[in-house]
Amino acid sequence: MPYNARMQTAEVVIIGGGIVGSSIAYHLTAAGCKDVLVIERETAQGKGSTGKSMGGVRAQFSTPVNIQMSLYSIPFYASFDERLGYPADYRSQGYLFCATNEKHLAYLRTNYQKQVAMGLKDVRLISGQEIRDMFPLLRSDDIVGGSFCATDGFVDPYSAMIGFMTCAADHGAKLWKNTQVTGIQRDAEGMTVVETSRGVVSTRKVVNAAGAWAKQIAEMAGVDLPVEPLRRMLVPTEPFDQFPHTAPMIIDMSNGFHFRPEALGFLLAWNDPEEVSGYNTDFDPAFIEKILTRAADRVPVFENLAVNPKRAWAGLYEMTPDHHPILGEAPNAPGFFLANGFSGHGVMHAPATGKVLSDLILTGKTELIDASLLDLSRFAEGRTIHETAVL
Ligand SMILES: Cc1cc2nc3c(=O)[nH]c(=O)nc-3n(C[C@H](O)[C@H](O)[C@H](O)COP(=O)(O)OP(=O)(O)OC[C@H]3O[C@@H](n4cnc5c(N)ncnc54)[C@H](O)[C@@H]3O)c2cc1C
Repeated sequence: MPYNARMQTAEVVIIGGGIVGSSIAYHLTAAGCKDVLVIERETAQGKGSTGKSMGGVRAQFSTPVNIQMSLYSIPFYASFDERLGYPADYRSQGYLFCATNEKHLAYLRTNYQKQVAMGLKDVRLISGQEIRDMFPLLRSDDIVGGSFCATDGFVDPYSAMIGFMTCAADHGAKLWKNTQVTGIQRDAEGMTVVETSRGVVSTRKVVNAAGAWAKQIAEMAGVDLPVEPLRRMLVPTEPFDQFPHTAPMIIDMSNGFHFRPEALGFLLAWNDPEEVSGYNTDFDPAFIEKILTRAADRVPVFENLAVNPKRAWAGLYEMTPDHHPILGEAPNAPGFFLANGFSGHGVMHAPATGKVLSDLILTGKTELIDASLLDLSRFAEGRTIHETAVL
């Protein structure tokens, strides 16, 4: 091997210092594994998807495994400040899904039954009239009912990421910033050698936590990973006080438009179905009219919203074919672990992901979920599980 005695070592190397890599580092150190190295190519954390996120956290999902991931993650966020000693700014303002036809309502009812059966306590189905009473400023002539969960809400993704990483570092983990991973090799002794712009690191366990860039990292390890980047745009408004700031995330199921209070204004989101896979993160100014039309349609006073296009932004979702993450050791690549493809849910599921990965790395199994449901082999073996509650 060309590598010499200056080669560094670590028990676990995590590639990517976003919220997922940081949560894994935290959970590993909390479980007693201190020799953890996180490698981040940017000069600061949060320049990937984590810093672009809307920060929504919810347990209102349609598949048991996603609900289970949230049942760990949301109470974790609720006690984050106390547990870690750093803030995550969890606000339990809820998520309100507004159904505009009987099909949506039946869908919410089925999901509600699954959520309650799995142990979610705070979710409830509500009538159209209740929604009208809660938010008289919504246009509700077509709203036939909905579902609301009071423990859903928002966190500050950047703070949570920094909290995870700082706490991990307090317990021995190291973070190399400004360091790009350029290659991954296996040596004759079965060790993995991670090549970086700062030299090589020898380890037994490598975690791919590279977000929307995970496919390239997987390729370096000879693994074909079905994770594709997809642009998502968010529009923050200028200060606006004509709609209550105690509002939950409100989702108009007729077209997917959703919004939540943010600072003195609101954060508006809508997933344009015309987006195609790719690394484009330019904000498209034409999006503003598209989203404001939908906003004013559902909330007539939003006609008075002011928006500064320079404050709007775009980031990348990391999509998998079944909208579920890919977690666990890659088949045919011993010691190469995946924590990828969160399909829009990486912030809310970061705590559970950290716990699952830490369990799998340290003990080979986890009690939190049936990890085989989220393994990479499910695609080749036809075991995909579709999540339809994607925002
Ligand atoms: C507009 C938008 C809104 C969203 N809203 C929500 C939401 O409301 N709720 C929610 O749960 N999720 C939301 N998401 C999704 C969420 O932000 C992501 O799923 C999550 O941030 C993924 O975290 P990560 O740590 O895996 O990825 P990232 O934060 O992207 O971190 C990956 C890191 O890997 C680094 N990296 C990549 N390649 C290399 C390399 N070769 N060497 C070293 N480092 C490398 C990158 O620099 C990056 O910092 C949203 C995303 C977007 C874009």
